[in-house]
Amino acid sequence: MEKLIFEKSRKGRKGYSLPKLDVNKTELTNLLDAKFIRTEPAKLPEVSENELARHFVRLSHLNYNIEEGFYPLGSCTMKYNPKVNEKTASLDGFTNIHPLVNAKYAQGALQLMYELGNDLMKITDMKGVTLQPSAGAAGEFTGIMMIRAYHLDRKDFKRTKILIPDSAHGTNPASAAIAGFQIVNVKSDEQGRVDIEDLKAKANDEVAGMMVTNPNTLGIFETNIMTIQEILHDCGALLYMDGANLNALLGIVHPGKIGVDALHINLHKTFSTPHGGGGPGSGAVVVSERLLPYLPVPQISFKNNEYSLNYDLPKSIGKIHSFFGNFLIFVRAYTYIKMLGKEGLKETSQGAIINANYLKSLIKDYFEFPYPAQSMHEFVMSGDKQKKKGATTMDIAKRLLDYGFHAPTVYFPLIVHEALLIEPTETETKESIESFAQALIAINKEIDEDPANVKSAPHNTPIGRINDAYAARNLNLKWVD
Ligand SMILES: *Cc1c(COP(=O)(O)O)cnc(C)c1O
Repeated sequence: MEKLIFEKSRKGRKGYSLPKLDVNKTELTNLLDAKFIRTEPAKLPEVSENELARHFVRLSHLNYNIEEGFYPLGSCTMKYNPKVNEKTASLDGFTNIHPLVNAKYAQGALQLMYELGNDLMKITDMKGVTLQPSAGAAGEFTGIMMIRAYHLDRKDFKRTKILIPDSAHGTNPASAAIAGFQIVNVKSDEQGRVDIEDLKAKANDEVAGMMVTNPNTLGIFETNIMTIQEILHDCGALLYMDGANLNALLGIVHPGKIGVDALHINLHKTFSTPHGGGGPGSGAVVVSERLLPYLPVPQISFKNNEYSLNYDLPKSIGKIHSFFGNFLIFVRAYTYIKMLGKEGLKETSQGAIINANYLKSLIKDYFEFPYPAQSMHEFVMSGDKQKKKGATTMDIAKRLLDYGFHAPTVYFPLIVHEALLIEPTETETKESIESFAQALIAINKEIDEDPANVKSAPHNTPIGRINDAYAARNLNLKWVD
């Protein structure tokens, strides 16, 4: 009888000897269809450890990251992630815990989630919390589902619409549509804020709620937020706030005090955690009194000195993630919040606002700023003037790579021609902000003197300009030898 021996002996992490995995082919045949059982050894590449290490280190050098340089992606908050977060997130007690373990044996993890939830409620002055959503968009969906449950619970069945400003992040209309709502766009006024007259014209008893980003995606604070919430609440609708980027508000503005009913917070933006490239994320949602009964289950309770999971919420929208969410991101956010404390968090926001406005002041004479209002943690400018001279915003973004910077967010928000949305974050030094400004000024000069060089950029990167539209339409992820 043929034996398939996977490994002769293995040592566990702590030096315990694990039993030899000795599988009998006939036993395997009982489990698997014969056609799935290999008759020849798998053709795995045979390379030395040295070759393997070099391969991956070389690949890592091709990759740009926040530890290499400035990463000004607007609406993304690409801040430096303190290493202590990684240390706490890799503690044995957190990484080896099983999600099905009895709550009695997971008291530390439950305490961390309970305290993090409380901190988020304090930071926002809101009344309830769920940590389950696995990203900002999932948080939006959760919040909108709670707003839906609120109206249905009141037998208010007419409310089929969600209002969304035209400057909003694309996930807002997507989340509301997936929750079954019809999207109604609200215009921006010439200052880049919600057009109050347009909002008044559209607010009625068919509106379930409005999703407002504040500061909005132009980096401008919605100074009319009290009027906005009043208009909505007067017609029975609720206010959802997209707080993906809370980086300008910590310790300064409390959403609970400006009439917000639900708000998602991207833990992976404001509260550090490396992100980008699709994950992982965590989009905690905090709610006002009105929405407490509809929060997802389980909620974490603390009674008689013990943390437990509470599923007894009859009006809950249910579960929206397997188990509890992206737990290790909670650990990072918790570490970050506890380490900075109340004052530190406020300084974070002040620093983010100062850095954005300083950078804006350095380049204001070279680019167009269609919405000149005071910026918060990010600002938007237009490459329209440069486009008329022959180089588009995309060309500028590509040329920035040659100067050693990550490009900012481009062509978003959609209401700005040739948009560049720039967010330096509080973790950058004055010097790095100045060198980024110098690069933009130099590129602007090149557009006048040698536009071809900008249009054919990047020149110094491992690969040149790729046709991203072609790549997206002809996706081919298979390696062909
Ligand atoms: C990032 C972001 C989102 C979406 O968050 P994800 O975690 O990417 O799903 C939503 N709204 C705004 C304003 C954002 O910046």
